Amino acid sequence: MKPEVPDIAVVGAGIIGVSCALALARKGFTVHVLDRQAPGLGASYGNAGHLATEQVFPIADLSIIKRLPAMLMDPLGPLRLDWQYLPRALPWFTRLLLNLRPAPYQRSVAGIRALNEASLGAWQRLLQSIDCAHLLKPDGSLLVFERPESRAALEALHARMRQQQVPVQAWDNAAIRQAAPHLSEHLQGGLFFPATGHFVDPYRIVTELVEAAKATGVRFLQRSVLDGRVQDNGVVLDTDQGPLAARRVLLACGAHSAALTTRLTGKRVPLDTERGYHLMLPAEQHRLPFAVTSLERKFIMTPMQQGLRLAGTVEFAGLKAPPMMARARQLYQLSKGLFRRDLDAQGATEWMGFRPSLPDSLPVIDRVAGGKVLLAFGHQHLGLTQAAVTAEMIGELAAPAHGSPVPMAAPYRLDRFFVGPGEAREGAR
Ligand SMILES: Cc1cc2nc3c(=O)[nH]c(=O)nc-3n(C[C@H](O)[C@H](O)[C@H](O)COP(=O)(O)OP(=O)(O)OC[C@H]3O[C@@H](n4cnc5c(N)ncnc54)[C@H](O)[C@@H]3O)c2cc1C
Repeated sequence: MKPEVPDIAVVGAGIIGVSCALALARKGFTVHVLDRQAPGLGASYGNAGHLATEQVFPIADLSIIKRLPAMLMDPLGPLRLDWQYLPRALPWFTRLLLNLRPAPYQRSVAGIRALNEASLGAWQRLLQSIDCAHLLKPDGSLLVFERPESRAALEALHARMRQQQVPVQAWDNAAIRQAAPHLSEHLQGGLFFPATGHFVDPYRIVTELVEAAKATGVRFLQRSVLDGRVQDNGVVLDTDQGPLAARRVLLACGAHSAALTTRLTGKRVPLDTERGYHLMLPAEQHRLPFAVTSLERKFIMTPMQQGLRLAGTVEFAGLKAPPMMARARQLYQLSKGLFRRDLDAQGATEWMGFRPSLPDSLPVIDRVAGGKVLLAFGHQHLGLTQAAVTAEMIGELAAPAHGSPVPMAAPYRLDRFFVGPGEAREGAR
């Protein structure tokens, strides 16, 4: 019997690939999802679960230049750059710095904002459609500060966020104590973001979406995709279990998307990874009502069904270097002093994951090669936040209503890295 040729082969079963697969199947396409491991075990497994719609600013600002020496010297600091990885990271950092010029910076802010503003609604629609609304708590999140000298930085951030219409409230120590009484009485104050929330189990979101996708006819295949090419009648993917033909492909391999993008489009996308860590504390069940981030200590604590998750930190060391789990354990040290009583670390587990990051902080959400190749990767710190809206956009790109373009998709095109603004772009989108 000849193998079935799906309309769309999705490569990557993280939160992005799985959300897109379901959206595509609901549009009537036959969909196969390929992943080299079980769904949801990449970055989507261990993220901080924060629906971070308030994070509208790019991953770096000019202060990164001042912090570079510390990044290189302190292996346990909030930002670490592996010396050995430095030569490979340099072109990416150069692009990152160029994107800090006013015009590209503002383009990035506008692009992130557009996705984030649509994110909560898209997630609510998606979760309701699979009867899982209870897995998202839209109860806000809090950024706290401890040192009086940090007040100016917090106020400046408050002003910048208001300028971007991010819903934000300034909270004093009393307001924090009322909402989160287990936090230290020494906190000076903070910013509360009412239009944010948290997922109580990010991995479960993926598995629930997988079940919904299967029920809609999506097939999941455990295969590693090694290579691929576009042909006249579709796409062929070479996998570790032989070739697989499809009419179209969607690349959603997170931080691992660059090589296949090059093979299928001929373009070298400047994708790198910001590695991040978590420490899961199963003995901590009811310490926080919502996610809390520390301005000075630069990490987040999110209450989840399995306990309290401490997460964050950024490490530039590429996809191959082994994890430095001392960075995950360091998160516990960072939590000390933020609560009235220290957290219970009994049974703690450590994890490292690869954030997929592009130097302008925007994902690639696009349709290229005459529509045969769809792209959805590079969501940096915001992949969970932006997954549902990305899936809606990919659904539109795959089946544009009356052949019309998706107006929102323009800032996320692949060719933004290869042509200047205003130059001709591919017609059929
Ligand atoms: C510590 C940490 C905290 C974070 N916190 C948050 C947060 O609070 N909120 C938020 O919105 N985001 C957060 N993020 C970011 C978010 O987790 C990512 O942006 C998101 O998970 C990316 O999803 P993805 O589906 O693109 O990639 P992944 O989840 O990594 O999935 C990619 C999949 O592709 C598969 N794959 C790759 N190459 C191949 C191949 N050649 N063949 C077959 N399969 C392949 C992999 O096995 C993997 O399953 C955090 C990330 C980290 C690391």
